[in-house]
This record gives sequence, structure tokens and C-alpha cells, in this order.
Amino acid sequence: MIIVLKPNVRPAQRDRILQIVHDFGYKTHLSRGEHRTIIGVIGDEEKLRTLPLEALPGVEKVMAVLKPYKLASRDFHHADSVVNVNGVEVGGRAVAVIAGPCAIESMDVLRTTAAAVKRLGAGLLRGGAFKPRTSPYSFQGLGEDGLKMLRDAGDEFELPVVTEVMDTRDVALVERYTDVFQIGARNMQNFNLLSEIGRAKKPVILKRGMAATVTELLLSAEYILTRGNKNVILCERGIKSFEDSVRNMADLSAIPNVQSVSHLPILFDPSHSTGRRELVIPMSRAAVAAGAAGLLVDVHPHPERAKCDGPQALLPEDFAKLMADVRAVAAALGRGLAAPVASARVRPRARARAPRESSPARKRKRA
Ligand code: PEP
Ligand code: MN
Repeated sequence: MIIVLKPNVRPAQRDRILQIVHDFGYKTHLSRGEHRTIIGVIGDEEKLRTLPLEALPGVEKVMAVLKPYKLASRDFHHADSVVNVNGVEVGGRAVAVIAGPCAIESMDVLRTTAAAVKRLGAGLLRGGAFKPRTSPYSFQGLGEDGLKMLRDAGDEFELPVVTEVMDTRDVALVERYTDVFQIGARNMQNFNLLSEIGRAKKPVILKRGMAATVTELLLSAEYILTRGNKNVILCERGIKSFEDSVRNMADLSAIPNVQSVSHLPILFDPSHSTGRRELVIPMSRAAVAAGAAGLLVDVHPHPERAKCDGPQALLPEDFAKLMADVRAVAAALGRGLAAPVASARVRPRARARAPRESSPARKRKRA
């Protein structure tokens, strides 16, 4: 930590700052320039961060030397982390494509979508049962009934499944059905939810908040990692900007940016980051070229009838084109596509079925 003193700092103020820092058990190194005095503080930087040093008279600025996150940092774990999602590796050389409807609407839509994306080479199936909607009048998701449909479709087409959890009270329920949790953009800083997922056993996809910096995303990941869950996958899904012709501004630089400081895999969501079907394929190509660990893509057989996010959903035939392009870009970079390893599926079909009785959480949701 470096403390920069004000140009007009009085010697008594400077000595008081030094005294306070020493009293906390730190060593200091004083550097007197022509115009400025700088104090280098040596010791546990994390603890030091919690002290309100900037409030001391004579202090202009306090600067951290180390990154504020530890377990998420490449300094802590140098090699890229690979997260195994029920037999599909996310974060290795292969590009993991996760596809499916934004929301689980019916078994029919889900099965049609799952069959198509599986045939076209997707590695995982997505679908939301608990939907974070801006309006309380919009479709909120099917809850546990939707989770059952997702599990059944995943088992039938041998695709691990991804679904969002929004509430700490639903973590155990969602964990019974899903292979990987999703924490959505709106909950990236729901610290209780992050801690609860940190204690869960299944991996998690943590989406970047729409107004969050990369450092804030990594600090949210740190909440999960420090609670013991090491299987964290990040996802860039666009951030707010002044541009109003797209739903969000796709920050593709976040991919190499995160990779330069963190070992965690990072996906790209071309659907929520653009909001427009015609932008999904070009942005997917760009994300794979930028080094994304994979894609999270909305696909729907009848986008005009979708209950959620139809304008950004690809038709299965569009998804075929996306996969052809992604394969080509990946191949140019010596990468392939991630696919379920048949023998690695930990949950055989018969055992995958979750208990049919409705849970207390579901009863509460219905109440
Ligand atoms: C989603 O993927 O279904 C979703 C709601 O995305 P986000 O949290 O990024 O808005
Ligand atoms: Mn959506």
C-alpha cells in the first residue's frame, strides 16, 4: 500500500500518520520527492485496506499495490482453471456452447430446442425457471415445474443443464435439478446469494452485472471461492451504455481483460449483450476469436411466441449457422467444441429424476 501525502503536509501531520500506521504493526518506508512525500507501507495489505487512512489530515491518496481479490487472481493460481460440468469441460481448449430458450415455457418447446441444439453440437442446455423480469407483469418462470422439465430434457438429450437461481431460499431446490447454477447480472452483487452458492456443491456461472466493473465481477467471484466452491465460471453479458440501438454494450475486451488477471473461465452471452438476433452470430464469432471459453446463447423454435426475450433468440436454423461459424473460428485457433463425455456423466437417467413431491420452497413461491 502506498500513501501519498498532500504537498503542503505539515511535519507533525506526517509524523502522526507514520505513528498510526506503526501502531497497527506495519513497517514504513518514507520517500521524499521534490514536491511530494510518499509512504510505502509494508505488511498485510488486506487488513490495511479496512483502515480509513484517507481520512487522516495530510493524506491525499491511498493506493493498493496488490489486487483486491486473491483466490480469483492469476497470482494465486497461474494456470487456466477448467470447470467440469457433469462431463463437459468449460475453460479448456474446447469452446463450450450452452444453448436453449431464455425461459422454460413448456416441455414441448424445451424438447424441440434441446433436440436441435444437441444435433447441432451444443455442449449444454440452458433455460430459466426463475426469471428476473423488469416488470412484475411479465412471465416470471415456471419454478419447480420448469426445473423438472429442464432436468428431463437434459437427461433425454444427454446435455448438462444450466438454470438461474435468484433467491438464497431456492439454492437447495435448484441444486437438486441443475448441473450448474447461473447467477444473473441483477444478482451479481447479491452477497448473501453468492455466499450460499459458495457453500453449494455444483459449479456456477456468474454473470457480470450490467453496471459492474471487471474488478467488481472478480470480487463477486471471490465471495463464492472463499466459501469453498472453486468451480466458478464467469460470463460477460454486456453493460449499460448510452447507445440505444442495442440492448446492452457487449464488452468483448472483458474476455482478455479478465484472462490477464484471473484463471477463471469466461463465457460470452451474445444474446443478452445485444438483444438483437442479427447481431448474435457476428458477436459470437468475435467472442471466440477473443478467446472466450464458450457461449451462452438463446435459441427458440418460435421466437415470435416466446414468453421472454424472443427478439434475441435464434431459430434452430440460425443456430446451425452460428455453430458452423464458431467451429471455423475455433479451428483457426486450434480449438474444438466441448461435448459431453458419455462415460463421465455422473447422473444416469434413472437417478436424475428429482423427487416429485413439491418442496417447501416451491410451496412458498406459489403462495
Ligand atoms: C439470462 O441469461 O436468462 C438472463 C436473465 O441474463 P442476465 O442475467 O445476463 O440478464
Ligand atoms: Mn433473457
